[in-house]
Amino acid sequence: MTSFTLHGIPVSRGIVIGRAHLLASAALEVKHYLIDDLQVEAEVERLKNAFATVHRELQTLREELTPEAPAELDAFIGVHAMILSDPMISEVPLEIIRTRHYNAEWALVTQIDELSAQFDDIEDAYLRERKSDIRQIGERVLKVLTGSAAVFTQLQARTKGAGHMIVVAHDISPADMLQFRDDAFGGFITDLGGQNSHTAIVARSLDIPAVVGMHNASALIRQDDWLIIDGDAGVAIVDPGTLVLEQYRVRQARLERERKKLGKLRNTPAVTRDGQPITLLANIELPEDCAAALEVGAVGVGLFRTEFLFMGRTGVARNLPTEDEQFEAYRKTVLAMKGRPVTIRTLDIGADKPLNAGEETATNPALGLRAIRYCLNDPHMFLTQLRAILRASAYGPTQVLIPMLAHVFEIEQTLQLLEQAKQQLRDAGQEYDPAVKVGAMIEIPAAALALPMFCKRLDFLSIGTNDLIQYALAIDRVDHEVAHLYDPLHPAILHLIANTIAAGAKARVPVAVCGEMAGDDKWSRLLLGMGLREFSMHPGQLPAVKQEILNSDLGLIKPVTRKILRSYEPRAIARGIKRLASL
Ligand code: PEP
Ligand code: MG
Repeated sequence: MTSFTLHGIPVSRGIVIGRAHLLASAALEVKHYLIDDLQVEAEVERLKNAFATVHRELQTLREELTPEAPAELDAFIGVHAMILSDPMISEVPLEIIRTRHYNAEWALVTQIDELSAQFDDIEDAYLRERKSDIRQIGERVLKVLTGSAAVFTQLQARTKGAGHMIVVAHDISPADMLQFRDDAFGGFITDLGGQNSHTAIVARSLDIPAVVGMHNASALIRQDDWLIIDGDAGVAIVDPGTLVLEQYRVRQARLERERKKLGKLRNTPAVTRDGQPITLLANIELPEDCAAALEVGAVGVGLFRTEFLFMGRTGVARNLPTEDEQFEAYRKTVLAMKGRPVTIRTLDIGADKPLNAGEETATNPALGLRAIRYCLNDPHMFLTQLRAILRASAYGPTQVLIPMLAHVFEIEQTLQLLEQAKQQLRDAGQEYDPAVKVGAMIEIPAAALALPMFCKRLDFLSIGTNDLIQYALAIDRVDHEVAHLYDPLHPAILHLIANTIAAGAKARVPVAVCGEMAGDDKWSRLLLGMGLREFSMHPGQLPAVKQEILNSDLGLIKPVTRKILRSYEPRAIARGIKRLASL
């Protein structure tokens, strides 16, 4: 067979070489037949039992999550459990059996197809992606109904001693990804998925090379084909020739050596060659992530995305964590960081992070009731969170970070509510740090263009480049159709970031970057040259960024950065970035 190359969207870095393992889609193998009157209730029971089994499977998966499991997994399993409980899935197929006398598999697939078709008409990309969650849950139920042996048991049996196995699938659910975590496979590619699909996020946190959006890879690749997955370039090479294999083996070995070397930097202070100390902080989603943050030598938490405590909670429609539950999570984090500062961001729910799957109904959710807007709209909920954070501040240095601020009255209302929360704690005789600092995420272009308004009222700023780019360039960050327009080097973006850093320095208000740009070592020198001194990122990215800082000389970087900022020509900017890398 001749070698060929497939291209997709790179979602998780690294190189893996191994054999393909194709995950079959259970939906394709369903039998269709009509049952007679007497069989109806037995068939309904059969389907109900399958639903119950899958519920138990999800429950077990959840219970077996180890503390090291990626933070989002619990939320993802929760979303699947919720989909399974939805009457559209759990009841309509039973009605189809009763009224149309379809067999259970056929009834289920009919309803899943019907729901999928409705999802195709939805404009919102995040919601459209939830179609795959529905399909995945449907396939789980089908596997139970048809009694097909668990794919993963087969895979694990095959994997033992077989070298790396690369999963090739039309789509993989995050819950199924869980089954692979014990080194059972070395990478994955899927036909579907965008950069921010749940499965992609899990792959990134598991640190496994992965490429999604490969269209028809699962149809073109055959079981046991040799594959090279290049998670940096977003490429899969099928049946590579000896020469190509050799080149990738060399690259792979080099990456591995670099990784090991970087691991040794844990206790090395992050200081530039010309003596400027830089603060490297961790982004976390749950208190358990502090272990990884400390492991790589983070000097604090720069962004605790608290919404993961709120998402995917099954049960009643609006099942929010109580004040005590939140307080426990925040205190655990503050204690785990052992005196290092922890910046807790208030709830950033809405847009691509709905409280419950399918809850978002706005036409343009990213521009809707999200983050601080959501919180100010529900002061009772917001006060509960503020009290919980304040109570945790009695246990170690804690800062409060507010997402998506744009208007002065939002800042003022937030500060008033914080005062109210403090008063409530005083009335109840509960302790908190009265000097707790409050900061703003700068992630709406309007905020980045009105900085004195923020510097006057707040103690620190943190630039959210993910949203700043989304809103400034008007591109949905979860839509793979416009992913190529997501450009951190657009002159407008560079100016918004540089102005924010400069305005903070002028007003003596500390500025950090906590968006993805801070964790990509490609941009470290550029940000240093703009004057950035605080970077917050996923723990896995910290060693490479530290290495870049240790190799950087501000005296050399600054003039090149100034030149980049004077240019409005993308080609000249690209040349400047190259020059920075060569210094
Ligand atoms: C950002 O927008 O850059 C950010 C850090 O927040 P999130 O990715 O959670 O929106
Ligand atoms: Mg954001």
